[in-house]
Amino acid sequence: MVSRIIPVEAFDLVVFGGTGDLARRKILPALFRRYCAGQMPEGAQIIGAARSEMDDAQFRVFVTEAIAEFNGDFPYKDEDMQGFLSILFYITVDALGDRGWTELAAKMQADRVRAFYFSVGPSLFGPLAERLHTYGMADMNTRIVVEKPFGRDLETAKELNRSLADHFDEHQVYRIDHYLGKETVQNLMAIRFGNMLFEPLWNSQYVDHIQITVAETVGVQGRGEYYDRAGAMRDMVQNHLMQLLCLIAMEPPSRFEPDAVRDEKLKVIRALDPVDPGDIVRGQYRAEGERQSYLEDVENPQSTTESFIALKLHLSNWRWAGTPFYLRTGKRMRARSSEIAVVFKETPHSIFDEEAGRHRNILTIRLQPNEGIDLDVTIKEPGPGGMRLVDVPLDMTFTEALGPDAEQVPDAYERLIMDVVRGNQTLFMRGDEVEAAWAWTDPIIADWEERGDKPLPYDTGSSGPVDALALMHRDGRRWREVRS
Ligand code: NAD
Repeated sequence: MVSRIIPVEAFDLVVFGGTGDLARRKILPALFRRYCAGQMPEGAQIIGAARSEMDDAQFRVFVTEAIAEFNGDFPYKDEDMQGFLSILFYITVDALGDRGWTELAAKMQADRVRAFYFSVGPSLFGPLAERLHTYGMADMNTRIVVEKPFGRDLETAKELNRSLADHFDEHQVYRIDHYLGKETVQNLMAIRFGNMLFEPLWNSQYVDHIQITVAETVGVQGRGEYYDRAGAMRDMVQNHLMQLLCLIAMEPPSRFEPDAVRDEKLKVIRALDPVDPGDIVRGQYRAEGERQSYLEDVENPQSTTESFIALKLHLSNWRWAGTPFYLRTGKRMRARSSEIAVVFKETPHSIFDEEAGRHRNILTIRLQPNEGIDLDVTIKEPGPGGMRLVDVPLDMTFTEALGPDAEQVPDAYERLIMDVVRGNQTLFMRGDEVEAAWAWTDPIIADWEERGDKPLPYDTGSSGPVDALALMHRDGRRWREVRS
């Protein structure tokens, strides 16, 4: 396959929080892979900036170790590692004080794209934006990248948006949701809008329901304090699951361009009905063997925060009225598995015997593991014995058709960081989208708090509380199995 690396302009990328966990696990290894792919232009600089005391040499050792730990068996040449390290620098900077800012400003090169990745807690977004402005680093070539959580409710999200808007235009702000950088998520748009086959069926007349599952096997993993203040609704549904729902449910944008796509996503969020409390199931994982319960993990025996949630949603618009969307996400579940399943209706009439059964097509978009797309179609079971029908997946994993290069797609962070440098906001959330998602989420959480709602316990390694299964059973439907 022909190389599809699109060159980017020379840039300076500053990673605030460059010594933190996210930088170590995701951002810096992703940048190295882009370097190896030949996508770093001559003169690019990557500058770690954080409170920790370090110099360039120590930062280079830190990054080398991060790459060794988090890039698995990614093959690279020694000269690539040497080349990459030579474009790395480090400056000790205090986001809340004056330390390091003059030095950082002096390090910036003229006439370059400047990207500032705020890989720090949201309380530092405003102070960082302000200091970038004060120290003369905020010009029209400047882009800032912010991580989740973008607020914990509508009010705090508005406040964050305001603190960024004081110094930057919306077109300079890149709010990351790494789910949008996944290859399959973009493929979902290609499948929907690049084919005639699916879009005419993509509505309540032909789609029985849609289910979105994001299941994790890990618990709160040392993030107990943060997680217990957030819970699955804030940590996963308000952002990642909501973004997936938008891409599945949105109208075709007129062009694959940032605002055209984001306008359509916003309309989906605004069309969401308030959720009936009876259509929500919350859970907390129990202990199992050596593994602690949720309450032990977060060291809060009274916690009423959910580590699992399942909800049934409705959209009030012409396309989707009558088609429910079932969403669920949780920790310590049976398998690490994320997928979207579009379950089509049964055929209106069967010409086959009763024994042949009634069948339906399911389009499954797998996000992890093994990103790919399956379409279950009904065929005749081979061999004699009459017309027996069976559902088989039509393999749309693409690796055979596209060759081995299809397996080496960049990961979400690689793609998204390069999009920042290119100035392409299509796969980033706009401020009004984030606010609309909080405006929908807030009353749901407020209702739990008002009623003192308590999550139901569920077994580690299960699919969540039994009531979550009942949420679909009572509608004559069932969740797809959680499996890797
Ligand atoms: P972390 O605590 O590991 O790192 C924080 C970084 O910020 C460190 O480099 C620290 O030196 C720097 N820092 C703190 N105070 C500072 C100050 N006053 N001035 C300058 N630098 C300062 O945090 P993390 O896990 O890397 O997370 C960073 C952000 O990314 C958070 O908002 C988090 O919610 C978000 N996030 C993290 C992950 C993850 O997997 N770790 C995933 C998604 C989102």
